[in-house]
Amino acid sequence: MSINGVVYEGERNVSVKPVDEPEIENPNDVVIDVTTTCICGSDLHMYEGRTSADPGIVFGHETMGIVSETGDGVSSLAVGDRIVAPFNVACGFCENCEDGLTGFCQNVNQTGDVPAGGAYGYVGMGPYQGGQAEKLRVPYADFNALQLPDEGHEDSFSLLADIFPTGWHGTELADLQPGDSVAVFGAGPVGLMAAYSAKIKGAGEIYVIDRVPSRLELAAKHCDANPINFDEGDPVEQIIAEHGGEVDKGVDAVGYQALDPEETDKGDDYSYNPAKENPAIVINSLIQAVRPTGKLGIPGLYVPEDPGAPDDAAAEGRLGIDFGKLFEKGQSLGTGQANVKAYNREIRDLIIEGRADPSWVVSHRVDLEEAPEMYDRFDNREGDTAFTKVLLEP
Ligand SMILES: [Zn+2]
Ligand SMILES: [Zn+2]
Repeated sequence: MSINGVVYEGERNVSVKPVDEPEIENPNDVVIDVTTTCICGSDLHMYEGRTSADPGIVFGHETMGIVSETGDGVSSLAVGDRIVAPFNVACGFCENCEDGLTGFCQNVNQTGDVPAGGAYGYVGMGPYQGGQAEKLRVPYADFNALQLPDEGHEDSFSLLADIFPTGWHGTELADLQPGDSVAVFGAGPVGLMAAYSAKIKGAGEIYVIDRVPSRLELAAKHCDANPINFDEGDPVEQIIAEHGGEVDKGVDAVGYQALDPEETDKGDDYSYNPAKENPAIVINSLIQAVRPTGKLGIPGLYVPEDPGAPDDAAAEGRLGIDFGKLFEKGQSLGTGQANVKAYNREIRDLIIEGRADPSWVVSHRVDLEEAPEMYDRFDNREGDTAFTKVLLEP
């Protein structure tokens, strides 16, 4: 039996075609009929050939839907339940899971390149078929599935799979406290969600740094952020001038495919260009922009292997970080993918109570069949037309 799914065919090439229909493999699995699944910026890393992903992977780690089948050992879920699956696959009983660090589960990824942590539809993250498809198998479902009310908030709830908790995680890693000033580098979906989380948590002042005007407008409009366009001058100087000094906290929502402000000019198109990248630039900018003893949260993605890196060291994940300056300033930093389960229940309730509505970040909702065109347009950043978050509907 087969279903339709989004399959990676090679660099900048995906297709929608028949893939294996997910089945119950273990007693604690459920299978869901997918109602919404999102394209993520981290899917683009694979799409662009910037990871070791082999053709054949079914993409998709941001998935919600309706339970259509339950394994014999499932006790908290029934057919018909509406759930969202965290992008992390986690067991619930290993040491890290017990500590709430479900992004680093020690039991779900025996096959991948990374020692801990599993995810759906992602290279090196275990054997879990992706959710950009008509159906998804959710392992350890009693633990992983987050139950949702029967209706409403479809767009917002779909963002609980990854970007809203990941943005929230950035502010947690930075130990953001009410009243703190914070600089968020990157106004892609995760950066926007980090700035939105900072607003919800009562940040005193929020700076968002990017070069795409439409994204900066979203940050200003929905996160009360001060937009900093690095095409208009050194971003660190702009932050310090506007704030009157260094900020308390910083978030890197860009990661290794960061553009170097010195390499880009106003008017350049917005697509990724490895020749203009500097994978250490955002962390080094944060070290400059954050005050001594301030904290840096780094949810932006870094990889130990980058086939498209701008230089040999970066190809092996070695970056020129200004560690001496970091030490001198006594700063600390937190890294790593989000432990979605640590936050998703509370921020689901913020959505249900109307205290958070992150759906403004969604720019497109289209049929699953349109995935190839959406990947292409998302990858090219579509000039300045606010191509932020794409939801697919199987
Ligand atoms: Zn994602
Ligand atoms: Zn675990």
